[in-house]
Amino acid sequence: SDIGSQKDRVVTEEEWLQKWEMGNIGFHKEQGHPLLQKYLDVLLNGRSGLRIFFPLCGKAVEMKWLADLGHSIVGVEVSEQAVKEFFSDHSLPYCEEPVAEISGAKMFQSTSGNISLYCCSIYDLSSSIIGKFDGVWDRGALVAVNPCDRQRYASLMTSLVEKNSSYLLVTVSYDSNKHKGPPFYVPESEIKSLFG
Ligand code: SAH
Repeated sequence: SDIGSQKDRVVTEEEWLQKWEMGNIGFHKEQGHPLLQKYLDVLLNGRSGLRIFFPLCGKAVEMKWLADLGHSIVGVEVSEQAVKEFFSDHSLPYCEEPVAEISGAKMFQSTSGNISLYCCSIYDLSSSIIGKFDGVWDRGALVAVNPCDRQRYASLMTSLVEKNSSYLLVTVSYDSNKHKGPPFYVPESEIKSLFG
């Protein structure tokens, strides 16, 4: 049946918060993503001590993996529940503080200092607040962004990366007439036009 075109679909922040409250988090991968392991060398490119950004991070366990490898992790997530679950799932002590530049936003940081998770909308962030990154792990992020916000998202992400950065992007390929998303289907041609 016709479920309408994905380009008009909007998932509100409130709906995301509800997914977390209800435990509707089928996207969360407890064992981490096999593609990050497969392409870790591409992300790191022989470098150590990188700043790595996780847009729309949820409680992705890959943040812990990369932190344990000596990298410094910054994530952003609207759900405070998700952020707190990340730290409690890994028994990591943390502190929280307001973010001066963004009203209502909080930053949760591991006591060891190497994982900082911003609880706010990604669209509230800029490089003047969080700096620039050497690497990005974009899984469940571009594909979770509302189709009408893709251009804004891609421009923001482009502004957050250093010249010599690596950006790993995971997408899903399927018939977009059969599933309303998220994850949304983002064709490769669109990825090329978004990121250049
Ligand atoms: N990347 C994670 C989570 C994917 S699901 C993983 O791989 O498991 C998408 C996540 O983005 C959800 O946790 C949702 O709460 C969050 N989210 C949705 N819109 C957001 C926004 N505008 N800013 C920050 N986080 C957002």
